[in-house]
Amino acid sequence: MNQGDDHGHDHGENPGGNHRMSHGGNHRENHGEDHRESRRVNHRMDRGGNVRVNQGTEHVNRMDAIRGGSRPVDHNARSIAALAANPACDRRAVLDAAGIDKDRTVAHLGYASRFGQSPFAITRTQEFKSIVKAHGGAHVLRLLREVLGLAVEEAGYHDAADVGGDSGHGVRHRHTAAVLNAAAQDPADAATLIDHPLLKLGVAGYDVYLEPDVIAFQAARRFHVVAIKSFAIIDGQADTGKVSAAAREAAVYVHAMRDLFARLGLDPERVSHDVVLICPKDFTNFPTACLLDVRLQLEALRRQLERLTRIDTILDRLPPDLSLDLCLDGDTPTRPVSELTAAVSAIPARYAPECLAACEMAYFCREEARACGSLEAIGRSVRDDLGGVDSVRTAIELIGGASPPPEEHAAIAERLRFVRRIFDEVVA
Ligand code: SF4
Repeated sequence: MNQGDDHGHDHGENPGGNHRMSHGGNHRENHGEDHRESRRVNHRMDRGGNVRVNQGTEHVNRMDAIRGGSRPVDHNARSIAALAANPACDRRAVLDAAGIDKDRTVAHLGYASRFGQSPFAITRTQEFKSIVKAHGGAHVLRLLREVLGLAVEEAGYHDAADVGGDSGHGVRHRHTAAVLNAAAQDPADAATLIDHPLLKLGVAGYDVYLEPDVIAFQAARRFHVVAIKSFAIIDGQADTGKVSAAAREAAVYVHAMRDLFARLGLDPERVSHDVVLICPKDFTNFPTACLLDVRLQLEALRRQLERLTRIDTILDRLPPDLSLDLCLDGDTPTRPVSELTAAVSAIPARYAPECLAACEMAYFCREEARACGSLEAIGRSVRDDLGGVDSVRTAIELIGGASPPPEEHAAIAERLRFVRRIFDEVVA
């Protein structure tokens, strides 16, 4: 299945609709600590246990200053995937790169954040994953046979949740890398599942650890990421927004795996862009699977990650004393709201309705965009259709026809007035 649209998220506003499934990441929060990693020079441990690696770039200090006294918020596959939903937004790039707590920031600004999974959805997902992974991944193997044509009756099973009782991120990641490397070098190792693998990805100068559901290797010498989701595939169809969100998350894992393969000196293309998506079938808990082609999501993610590593060019355009510090007193933000509003507004945003399903800041940015008459606030297609017109006010003036349009807007004005005539006829 080829995913072309970024329509939404489990818990956001999305156009709904169903996605036709061809037959046949989730992440786990990082809560452990790896003391071996923390001894390395320039490493710092954040509150989630993620090791943040100062790669020596100057912008890291600048981002720490922007964040102020608050602890940095971790990235995860979901948040990294959401970056790709609006790669042109400087505001999101800066907030994410600086590890700003967007939920808390937008709440202090007086807006709700409806982005994220509900506790019910998280519990439901965990229950379904337990079913799928039970008995050494028996369901996974059955489904892999169906969608990848694996000929084997049995598969090896590695659990990388800990290594000899050590569940530190660094040791688990090294173990995952060693298992993958050994399998990639050994053609005889034809079918093995690795549960709780731990991958690593550089995001804006920091390394973050990511945990796909399962990595399956290897069909036709290629490795596949397995994504287990709790939304149903009913009569071969699933909600388009949820499938798109799953594809974006899975693309993060594929990207991280290809990055690991490159570091191991292996061909990154041996990690397939076809992700195995496992969901409940119809109205049961019985797992079914299909292949999800995430090439478009990979490309969008790659562009956005590149953009994040060039965060210094965005920072150069911002006020040098910019601070988004919430001035926490214990857990309570004390920064005057007007001051914080001005600081956030100093970072250019690119609001579009899609933000409602992908970013915690959406309601703040939507109001800001509406206040300045942004056409993009209505929709990117509207902005594209009215290319060259910079605001709703200008568009209305062109429709009104009180004065001749400037030459560069003549064609658009003619189209707008044509649409207006049709509209008037229809409602007359
Ligand atoms: S909601 Fe705001 S900060 Fe987030 S991506 Fe959209 S415009 Fe950028």
